[in-house]
Amino acid sequence: KLSQRLEAVANYIPKDARLADIGSDHAYLPCYAIKKEMAVFAIAGEVVEGPYQSAKRQVELEGLTDQIVVRKGNGLEVVEPGEVDCITIAGMGGTLIASILEEGKSKLGSVQRLILQPNISAISIRLWLLDHKWELISEEILEEDGKIYEILVAEAGDPHKSYKELHKELLLGPLLLKNNSAIFKKKWQLELKNWQRILMQLEKAVESEETTQKRLELNEKIQMVEEALNQ
Ligand code: SAM
Repeated sequence: KLSQRLEAVANYIPKDARLADIGSDHAYLPCYAIKKEMAVFAIAGEVVEGPYQSAKRQVELEGLTDQIVVRKGNGLEVVEPGEVDCITIAGMGGTLIASILEEGKSKLGSVQRLILQPNISAISIRLWLLDHKWELISEEILEEDGKIYEILVAEAGDPHKSYKELHKELLLGPLLLKNNSAIFKKKWQLELKNWQRILMQLEKAVESEETTQKRLELNEKIQMVEEALNQ
């Protein structure tokens, strides 16, 4: 059975999609998308030999070799221009996801939807989307096995439409902030506690330009998030 996290990612795949799942590991996501008839064709991309072999084995085991090709390579290198219209990248840090998109920009011409699930640093993805004219159409936050995950869904468009207060919403997510769900509040309360703990340590440390700068930054973030939670 697919994890709740990957199932939530799969739910954003448009009907009859031609999908590329980058960093596919066991290829669970493309296998599920094909079996559920969400996608008609999929590429499972993996850069590391072990997961690449796992993906190949899983696709063979499920008898899906006609619909899913498993390719070894870095990021969007495994995709030919025009081959897919939907890309999923899940279970990595937001900076890595953003760098995969940046390096693979030339492959995005035929892509209508990006479904991205960063484990940390969703802000890096929102910044990349904003700079490259991808509009956030959905954001979701969920908790599974004690971990909180965010899902960002984007389509080509005017990204500025999503934002009213850029600085705050890039960090928190404009749509997540609007929804203000219990899990969203929990995530940012945990972050706040963490930042406050770091701040206390910095206050004990020897004062330097660096610690002062860090304190200012943390204080600013803390204030912004507290304000958002209390709105
Ligand atoms: N996407 C699956 C999920 O969400 O459950 C697997 C997540 S796993 C933690 C991350 C996978 O991404 C690893 O198998 C890793 O080898 C792969 N990966 C990391 N960087 C990559 C890159 N630049 N290109 C392709 N795959 C990459």
